[in-house]
Amino acid sequence: MSNGPLPKRVDPRKLAEREVRIAGEADLNGMPNLCQTIVGEKGVVNVELQFAVDEQRIRTITGSASGHVFMTCQRCLDPVEVAVEAEFNLGVVASEEAAKQLPRSYDPLIVEDEEIELLPVIEEELILSLPHDAYHDDCTVKTSFGEAEAVADDTDKPNPFSVLAKLKASNK
Ligand SMILES: [Zn+2]
Repeated sequence: MSNGPLPKRVDPRKLAEREVRIAGEADLNGMPNLCQTIVGEKGVVNVELQFAVDEQRIRTITGSASGHVFMTCQRCLDPVEVAVEAEFNLGVVASEEAAKQLPRSYDPLIVEDEEIELLPVIEEELILSLPHDAYHDDCTVKTSFGEAEAVADDTDKPNPFSVLAKLKASNK
């Protein structure tokens, strides 16, 4: 799927009235808060958003953002690829007060002006969808072979270097 970039600013109420569907790529480099959590090369996520008005006349934005990012593996501290799958289920409201009236099935999106910046909205959902800690699936294997020194100090296993030293000694 190859789409152009998403529009930077949108008028969610107008788009809802017209039941507009937009799809495009959101650049992760434009998301400073998310960039504090992720590491390495930052690409794009594919975003699809449907603007609509529901039967209670609530303007809604539903859709998804998907892609992948890199986070620091909390076991070996190397980057680990994390799949991103964020779901949007937003109800557009004008104030905090109106947000409290919103049915619970919607997350409130407070839009005081006509237009909003789209990227921060996507950024927030992406941050919420990311795991708190990321680990490699095969990290145990990786550390026991690749970073023997790192695991040696917190396990009862003999240090491979001292085993090696003994072998060398017994060969003499
Ligand atoms: Zn790891």
